[in-house]
Amino acid sequence: MSVTNWRYCGKCHAMFYDGNPQKGSCPTGGGHEAVGYTFVIPDDVPGTPTAQTDWRRCGRCQLMFYDGYPQKGRCPGGGGHIADGKHYVPPHDVAGTPTAQTDWRYCANCQAMFYDGYADKGVCPNGGGHAAVGYNFVLPHVADAQAAVPID
Ligand SMILES: [Zn+2]
Ligand SMILES: [Zn+2]
Ligand SMILES: [Zn+2]
Repeated sequence: MSVTNWRYCGKCHAMFYDGNPQKGSCPTGGGHEAVGYTFVIPDDVPGTPTAQTDWRRCGRCQLMFYDGYPQKGRCPGGGGHIADGKHYVPPHDVAGTPTAQTDWRYCANCQAMFYDGYADKGVCPNGGGHAAVGYNFVLPHVADAQAAVPID
């Protein structure tokens, strides 16, 4: 099973859930703004050496964050993130393909999943840009030439 409503936010560079009318809280202000690919993140499957469990959606800011630590990062909505909904198991450290994008990383400061493929590291709720640590996630997305992430 997978959920297809995950998108890259062009404002903060993090992965957010775009399946609700309300677009969460972006650290840049207002809601997140979907740009580029529509991602299909596996959920409710077992973890493997190349797929990490404990990724959740924050019910407040709508970002995808790592819920495997006692501390819940920094939510743009204030305090730590609040896990809601499905349990996601994103693949990591495998080869990229035309329908799987590399360079998604965990931010050590806010614990969100963000795109690290640009020189600009986006806007972290903790201040400054996001800080990549750990695995290199390779996230499956819908094949759609019109939805390619633009060069910015
Ligand atoms: Zn955002
Ligand atoms: Zn949050
Ligand atoms: Zn961050």
